[in-house]
Amino acid sequence: MPAVNNVLVVGGGLAGTATAILLADSGVTVDLVELKPDAAALGSGITLQGNALRVLRQVGVWPQVSQLGYAFDTLGLRAPDPAGTLLAELPDHRTGGADLPATVGMYRPDLARVIHDRARQVGVRVLLATSVEKLTSDDSGVDVVLTGGVSSRYDLVVGADGLRSHTRQLIGIDLQTQPTGMGIWRAFTPRPAQITRTDLYYGGPSFIAGYCPTGPDSLYAYIVEKAQDRSALTAQQRLDTMRELAAAYHGPFDAIRDSLTDPATVNYTWFEAHLLDRSWHRGRVVLIGDAAHACPPTLAQGAAMALEDAAVLAELLLAADAVDDGLWEAFMDRRHDRAGQVVSASVQLGQWLLEGHRGADVPGLMGRIAALVSTPA
Ligand SMILES: Cc1cc2nc3c(=O)[nH]c(=O)nc-3n(C[C@H](O)[C@H](O)[C@H](O)COP(=O)(O)OP(=O)(O)OC[C@H]3O[C@@H](n4cnc5c(N)ncnc54)[C@H](O)[C@@H]3O)c2cc1C
Repeated sequence: MPAVNNVLVVGGGLAGTATAILLADSGVTVDLVELKPDAAALGSGITLQGNALRVLRQVGVWPQVSQLGYAFDTLGLRAPDPAGTLLAELPDHRTGGADLPATVGMYRPDLARVIHDRARQVGVRVLLATSVEKLTSDDSGVDVVLTGGVSSRYDLVVGADGLRSHTRQLIGIDLQTQPTGMGIWRAFTPRPAQITRTDLYYGGPSFIAGYCPTGPDSLYAYIVEKAQDRSALTAQQRLDTMRELAAAYHGPFDAIRDSLTDPATVNYTWFEAHLLDRSWHRGRVVLIGDAAHACPPTLAQGAAMALEDAAVLAELLLAADAVDDGLWEAFMDRRHDRAGQVVSASVQLGQWLLEGHRGADVPGLMGRIAALVSTPA
């Protein structure tokens, strides 16, 4: 008998949907509420590292991810010079195991559609354009009021509603999310045929420029700068700004810059980070994914950490026969330090760039995190 029979998941991102699938697939009744009316409506690309792929395979969507995404096993380093000179081609760690690629790039809306289809297939009741208004947790369950006033009782509520988690507020946790000092321009564009993996350009007028193929015909490109208030720019000005910044990057970036013509494909976001102290639960409400820990995408590990939370939480709930302190201790023992190390390494990498720290051991830090996440969570 699992520790729970019926669960409410708040948030239909990767953390929430993966948790819902893993529980429902083992017979738990799961409702999933997602604020957006269409979970797959918006987004750019995402870099999925091997340890994220390992959980996506467990969730049952690896065939679709491998078919729709773009897999690769090396990382290129290029100079911000007029030729975009290739400096190094590094084999990437296969952190999900030898039978999965090191990395898959994917269009976020495709990934959202695939996991939501899978959730429905295993019997998750998905309620879109819905949220939680009230939560009251006691020893045996949680009374919940959903949007529109519908009341229900659940054995457990999983708050997987992202960086600015509403569930976190409802259970009285005040977590300070900090900007890390960097901002990222991203654009979703056609993939020039010569781009078959991620290349990173360090330096030039911005800190980093790079790209990641997301499918046979698409990629996302990005440029990381010192965080600025870009909120007053119009869509056309955002496009113009990204094109101007991209003018310093050459080689394959020339073709990307030429294809940057649609203002709707460009967005700008600041990097932010936080880590919730253990424990991530209050009564029978638990926070996972970005709601509990968030990192800048300097290691592209945020989604992987969110998926790992889901896998570990579901495994523990299915193996235990009670929701008790032992279960929460075990969850924190497997998740808190691991996610914390990824958050601090991701912040550190950005900090070294902000400080212009030339002697920093970037490969060493990246190697340590790759070794850490290569062991299943
Ligand atoms: C610029 C940028 C680039 C990134 N690139 C990468 C990358 O390449 N690789 C990587 O691994 N990670 C990347 N990340 C991090 C990654 O996107 C997140 O770590 C990951 O999406 C977290 O998943 P999640 O399910 O916890 O949260 P989210 O993906 O934020 O999902 C939360 C869901 O909850 C919903 N929601 C919010 N409020 C409510 C509510 N009140 N009620 C119901 N539902 C609600 C939201 O609509 C959303 O669907 C990046 C982050 C940023 C900012």
